[in-house]
Amino acid sequence: MQESKKMGKKMNVAVVGATGAVGVEVLKTLDKRNFPLKGLRLLASARSENRRLLFRDEELPVEVLSADSFQGIDVALFCAGAARSREFAAAAVAAGAVVVDNSSAFRMDPKVPLVVPEVNGEDVRKHQGIIANPNCTTTIMLVAVKPLYDISPIRRIVVSTYQSASGAGAKGMDELWTQTADVLAGKPAKPVTFQHPYAFNLFSHNTTIGENGYNEEEMKMVNETRKIMHDDTIQVCPTCVRVPVLRSHAESIVVEQARKVSVDEALAALSKAPGIKVVDDRAANHFPMPNESNDQYDVLVGRIREDLSCANGLALFVCGDQLLKGAALNAVQIAELLV
Ligand code: NAP
Repeated sequence: MQESKKMGKKMNVAVVGATGAVGVEVLKTLDKRNFPLKGLRLLASARSENRRLLFRDEELPVEVLSADSFQGIDVALFCAGAARSREFAAAAVAAGAVVVDNSSAFRMDPKVPLVVPEVNGEDVRKHQGIIANPNCTTTIMLVAVKPLYDISPIRRIVVSTYQSASGAGAKGMDELWTQTADVLAGKPAKPVTFQHPYAFNLFSHNTTIGENGYNEEEMKMVNETRKIMHDDTIQVCPTCVRVPVLRSHAESIVVEQARKVSVDEALAALSKAPGIKVVDDRAANHFPMPNESNDQYDVLVGRIREDLSCANGLALFVCGDQLLKGAALNAVQIAELLV
């Protein structure tokens, strides 16, 4: 993906949660895409008071987040968890900022657009002060399936995810590093952040299970897909799993469409779609892998096959850097649409 073009208006931007896993990637993305910044304010908790973070050769102070943090701010990128978004987004909007929120706080609020620029970028225009960034797993899936939907509407999606430790933030990555080192040293893996041992293991996603047996992450995939695609008829059956990978989520996706779409047709559409890189080399057995999607803006899509069990079905395997396309990059792209 190319860097953003030079844009006219310059913006004062606040990054809420600048010290976290997503916040750090937001700073890198603003720099790399040459976002038109007038000023940059870094906000985090009292734990980060006196810290400074490097941005374009300048050490910027981290300030403690408060309701008074947003004077003069045009865009506030929130990446500090849903509780902080619920507490402080209104103050940011009252101060005149547009909030782009990475948390789940407002995603299903009918007044709040839920936006993946490659899928429904035009929804940004409907905002009333807050724009939500979707769940990372959903974003990665929808970037991959939207070009197929444009050929023929998708009726049903069966998706199984292989989600990385960094999806749970800095503490998730620490847990995987620490347990792996402990197990290799012959010590037991001690779960702290996650309920189950993580090193050399995998387990059902760590969010709460609802009455229907699906966990919160899975229900986000169901509900957010319908909202972003403006199609309440899409049926989604997700199974979300944490795997011992540090970064990038992988997803096995089967779509059932209104009509049969051939592998060649799908490949042609995916190859020219924005935000996608096709990795589909059958001869070399080379398909999307987290190691190759890490630090990449594009979602890798491959293993494109006819579904042998269903007339109008296609199977795909997808990998995307959830800290970037699933969070930081998507938020910065939304901010670019605001410019
Ligand atoms: P993280 O690594 O744990 O970082 C959390 C950030 O929030 C830190 O900067 C932390 O500051 C700040 N924070 C925590 N409590 C605060 C408080 N009381 N006041 C001010 N700042 C506070 O988490 P993350 O993974 O970056 O996730 C951030 C948000 O993005 C969450 O809403 C998450 O759901 C969402 N998200 C994450 C991913 C992902 O892949 N990780 C993907 C999509 C969306 P201190 O350093 O000072 O504690």
